[in-house]
Amino acid sequence: MGKIILTGDRPTGKLHLGHYVGSLRRRVELQNLGDYDKMFVFMADVQALTDNADNPEKIRQNIIEVALDYLSAGLTPEKCVLYIQSQIPELAELTTYFMNLVSVSRVQRNPTVKTEIKMRNFEANIPMGFFAYPVSQAADIAAFKATTVPAGEDQEPMLEVTREIVRRFNQIYAPVLVEPNIMLPENATARRLPGTDGKEKMSKSLGNCIYLSDDADTVWKKVKTMYTDPAHLNVSDPGHVEGNAVFTYLDAFSTDEDFAEFWPEFKNLDELKAAYTAGGIGDMKCKKLLNSVLNKMLDPIRTRRHEYEQDIPEIYNILKKGSLAARETAAQTMDEVRSAMQINYF
Ligand code: ATP
Ligand code: MG
Repeated sequence: MGKIILTGDRPTGKLHLGHYVGSLRRRVELQNLGDYDKMFVFMADVQALTDNADNPEKIRQNIIEVALDYLSAGLTPEKCVLYIQSQIPELAELTTYFMNLVSVSRVQRNPTVKTEIKMRNFEANIPMGFFAYPVSQAADIAAFKATTVPAGEDQEPMLEVTREIVRRFNQIYAPVLVEPNIMLPENATARRLPGTDGKEKMSKSLGNCIYLSDDADTVWKKVKTMYTDPAHLNVSDPGHVEGNAVFTYLDAFSTDEDFAEFWPEFKNLDELKAAYTAGGIGDMKCKKLLNSVLNKMLDPIRTRRHEYEQDIPEIYNILKKGSLAARETAAQTMDEVRSAMQINYF
């Protein structure tokens, strides 16, 4: 059986560098390699509503923002199916059946959900839909028989739940669904990119993001104030690269060519790290390097974004076509699911 790639993002804000290195960059590479049967990329608006039920306008606006981020990062409708989750009602149906195949305590044990509940201060008032979103995510993946899910580390527990549900379904009913595998970024730093404040994860809700759509001035403002090594007071002092966000970002984004272009005194990041650790390298110079590295990467994305921004109706057109195509695939799977479950009465 062939390779089916599937991933998505919540349309709750513009995409940031964490999304990019954690998943989006990989999707574009995979798309351009073309080594797959089908590739699905979707905006999880149903999931976004689980903790934004009172703010539909925000989700609606961010559908366009995320679509612009996708297209400007290099995803193209010729090579992948771009769609909106809510336009595929089959996913809600599959979620309902999946609810019976997983226990409340199993979902409660999910460390990502635990952290997210804490972050949102839900305490005892967790919306049922939010609590159950890992089940709905299992349906999002299984409905397309996805084999491969490029995602950041936070998605590992979700994929585990998905695999368990699919395994149970196949055991109880009939082997029609496929157990997916996560595809983590090769670069360990990219699996969970910290925020510009050095905090554990770059995240919209923590306000520590550099967005793909930030202009050069904004990027420099953010890079300039980035967390480095609080013990590195004078240029001559030895510096620490561990836990130093500037170096973490250089790990995730810089290449040897960047050094040749922007700081030829060093061949690569290892050499700069050694010099910084020994002392004598100022934080500002490292920040300027990072700024150049980021802008080199973001410039072509910005240019494409400006082009796509000129024709928003065309973006809705792309999403409509993608949603129709995705729905066809999901409907096919649901025929098999209903037969397997013996609820195909007529
Ligand atoms: P945020 O956590 O910033 O609010 P989100 O929850 O809306 O963002 P998701 O839509 O859950 O983000 O994530 C989309 C993809 O991006 C997932 O594959 C996720 O693993 C990845 N991702 C998000 N943030 C990061 C990060 N800081 N580092 C690496 N990958 C990330
Ligand atoms: Mg998330």
